[in-house]
Amino acid sequence: MAKYKLEYIWLDGYMPVANLRSKTLIKEFSSFPKLEELPIWGFDGSSTRQAEGKSSDCRLHPVAVYADTTRKNGVLVMCEVYMPDDKTPHPSNSRANIPDDPGAWFGFEQEYFLYQNGRPLGFPGGEGNFPYPQGEYYTGVGYKAVGNIARQIVEEHLDLCHDAGINHEGINAEVAKGQWEFQIFGKGSKNAADQVWVARYLLMRLCEKYSVDVNWHCKPLGTDVDWNGSGMHSNFSTTHMREVGGKEYFEALMAAFDKYKNEHIAVYGPDNHLRLTGLHETQSIDKFNYGIANRGASIRVPHSFVNSGYKGYLEDRRPNSQGDPYKIAARILQTIQTVPTK
Ligand code: ADP
Ligand code: MN
Ligand code: MN
Ligand code: MN
Repeated sequence: MAKYKLEYIWLDGYMPVANLRSKTLIKEFSSFPKLEELPIWGFDGSSTRQAEGKSSDCRLHPVAVYADTTRKNGVLVMCEVYMPDDKTPHPSNSRANIPDDPGAWFGFEQEYFLYQNGRPLGFPGGEGNFPYPQGEYYTGVGYKAVGNIARQIVEEHLDLCHDAGINHEGINAEVAKGQWEFQIFGKGSKNAADQVWVARYLLMRLCEKYSVDVNWHCKPLGTDVDWNGSGMHSNFSTTHMREVGGKEYFEALMAAFDKYKNEHIAVYGPDNHLRLTGLHETQSIDKFNYGIANRGASIRVPHSFVNSGYKGYLEDRRPNSQGDPYKIAARILQTIQTVPTK
């Protein structure tokens, strides 16, 4: 038997954006624990905006497990929050609302800024001082473009994710200085979203030792200056989309996305009106459109989709960097479910 460090991770009750919380439970196992072996645990919900002080117990139900190679016998345990009866999902539990669909695949492109001393990493200090304008940062190389800490962070984060068993699929430096992206892909309606939350957790925890914070806000520099915002483009497909598809189904699907556009925007992350302006490769927030290879559309239809007979995946470009991938996945699948597959 060995003592394992189980890091239970959950989303708190802050609005409109939940924070990640975690705490450690030590338990003995003969080998790396399986999900079924992990106990339900609890926490003080009155300290996380999830309960009143007089009845403050909230319950942690493990839903996914990953390795934590930064610790000896380390385990990352993603949890859903339940009421004290262990049956009722807590109102903050957005994962509980995702329709079960093992055939649903999601690929999330998580953009974010690294911040230090209240400004993006690499921005000069002082009021009104900016680095040279956007243009050469995206996928850039060299100290002038990416500085000397960021690449170390994103590379270490990549290794941490892979060691954990997270399907991190790629990295790129983004359009703004100090802005980066990673991509996470997963099969199953909840899988990729779980991985995004744990990947966010690992990035934030990693950055502690660099005195760097991750700024997930979708427009941290505001709209008065010409600096990009951060999105979380959400690529999605179902078994029907991949195997049957067809132009007629695609058009019915897009009509449903148009019909529910407000419901989608409602869960695509706060302050999205600052980002979805029609500029900087976005469609404006009150419009829905789709376009083949169109990066200014709400939904971008990849060339491959059309070339293979309207089969494959679509990219919803509206979700922002601070969006909850659980809510995003739930809404996309709810809308898809309104469209008959015949
Ligand atoms: P871009 O920056 O050109 O929009 P990325 O390469 O950053 O594209 O992201 C594309 C995402 O699409 C990846 O996360 C990938 O895993 C995902 N993806 C690819 N095929 C599918 C599919 N069939 N269903 C869902 N997501 C997919
Ligand atoms: Mn991308
Ligand atoms: Mn990007
Ligand atoms: Mn994209």
